[in-house]
Amino acid sequence: MIVLGSSTAEAGIVAARDVLVQGGSALDAVEAGIRLVESAPNVHSVGQDAWPNLLGQVELDASIMDGRTLDAGSVGALRGFLHPISVARRVMEELPHVLLVGEGAGRFAGEVGAERGELLSDEVREGWAEWLQARMSPEEWANWPADTLVPWAKRTADPETAHGTVCLLARDMRASIAAGVSTSGWAWKYPGRLGDSPIIGAGNYADNRHGAAACTGFGEMAIRCGTARSVLLYLKTGLSIEDAVRAAVQDLDDAAWRYRGRVTIYSFDRSEEHRVVSYTRVGGGCSYWLWQGDMDAPERRQGITHDAHRGA
Ligand code: ASP
Repeated sequence: MIVLGSSTAEAGIVAARDVLVQGGSALDAVEAGIRLVESAPNVHSVGQDAWPNLLGQVELDASIMDGRTLDAGSVGALRGFLHPISVARRVMEELPHVLLVGEGAGRFAGEVGAERGELLSDEVREGWAEWLQARMSPEEWANWPADTLVPWAKRTADPETAHGTVCLLARDMRASIAAGVSTSGWAWKYPGRLGDSPIIGAGNYADNRHGAAACTGFGEMAIRCGTARSVLLYLKTGLSIEDAVRAAVQDLDDAAWRYRGRVTIYSFDRSEEHRVVSYTRVGGGCSYWLWQGDMDAPERRQGITHDAHRGA
């Protein structure tokens, strides 16, 4: 058994482990753990108290995948609901679809009785207003939102802007694998922007035959390179987990980056060998959470940082 999570998974990894130890499924473990992170007040990039878009609206993305069947569900730009990971799971279980976005996602969440709630706290709203006010004249602020948000979306494309998706990957005692991701996405993003988190194959993938992978960071790059699915395809060709993740990092390195940023890949194979690598154009390290069957408690570990040498 294994649970692998991003640095933001701290509030949920013990609950995920407990589900596995009690004989529960990887799918239940991932959902239970992520729900706790969505409720955690100190995680401003997931669920409640999360960073809003340029208009000050919190739009949440989440996805979940069942490695037994390759069933998957996801939601994008969901507003007003506390647990997008559970709505994503209901999409997977109750609809013939995989991905719902915006109003349709909200309608579905209401139909299945998902919990509604206020997502934007005063503190986070102040942070949003301060960020904008520091970059515009008092007249521009008084007339916000501007007619065109495009120049502002480009200005948010800086590596200091807050990121911090949560992902949890798990394998249970029946050798079933599941993966889940939840996020408010890029802080101050253009309204309607989806990152990699709700895109199955980009930010999330699970397949009992090969393993699981998820990404955090600059979601546009993980979408363009199809990173999570790539890792599993590389595993399928017979590469080790180390080489599979290295190959996915090479794909990121080969793609043109118009903005600075990082992509962190979290993955394990079907023998529960894991690898966490952060490909970065902004420097800095990366940590992650790990629990394996022989450990008393989850541990925070340092991932491998792969600095880009080519210009951003
Ligand atoms: N991957 C997320 C996104 O692009 C953001 C993050 O992980 O910080 O929406």
